[in-house]
Amino acid sequence: TVKEKTTVRLMFLGAAGVGKTALIQRFLHDRFEPKHKRTVEELHSIECDTDEAKIRIEIMDTSGSYSFPAMRKLCIRNSDAFALVYSVDDPESFEEVQRLREEILELKEEKDTPIVVVGNKVDLENQRLVLGEDVMPVVELEWNASFLEASANSSENVLGVFGELLRQARVPSRIS
Ligand code: GDP
Repeated sequence: TVKEKTTVRLMFLGAAGVGKTALIQRFLHDRFEPKHKRTVEELHSIECDTDEAKIRIEIMDTSGSYSFPAMRKLCIRNSDAFALVYSVDDPESFEEVQRLREEILELKEEKDTPIVVVGNKVDLENQRLVLGEDVMPVVELEWNASFLEASANSSENVLGVFGELLRQARVPSRIS
């Protein structure tokens, strides 16, 4: 029998420095590097083979800068699910998440585009300035999106973030 082949495209967006690259590196390589080079735009691709299907997961890491607006728009149009990342120690980075959501809604035709809002750096609990209890009702009730807190540093809930993205993108639960 011929296996079903699917590609799922995930896109990470958020202000510079919130930990998009760190979350992706933690997921792909279970590693955390306190300092690494700035990301411009980077595409990661992994393949999962199950009995029924071959699934390619593409993860687009973006910078917080807007150097390539056309490229960015194209990428948003082509993505299946979005992680909008902010840092719990940086309220401005949550405002950026609000702007990014609006940008996505403008560019995507279908109105139920899967969005997972990620409050990263929960290991910095004593520097926290954004409360999950304030963000959750906005994201879950007003936006009808998913909300998770995580830490690329402690690796808390990183699998939860990717599991939720794949679930939202309707990847069979066997692999997510
Ligand atoms: P990006 O610009 O969104 O891709 O952010 P990076 O992944 O480059 O991370 C920016 C900085 O925040 C780096 O110095 C990371 O080591 C740090 N960082 C990322 N995630 C976490 C985290 O969960 N906790 C802490 N304490 N620092 C983090």
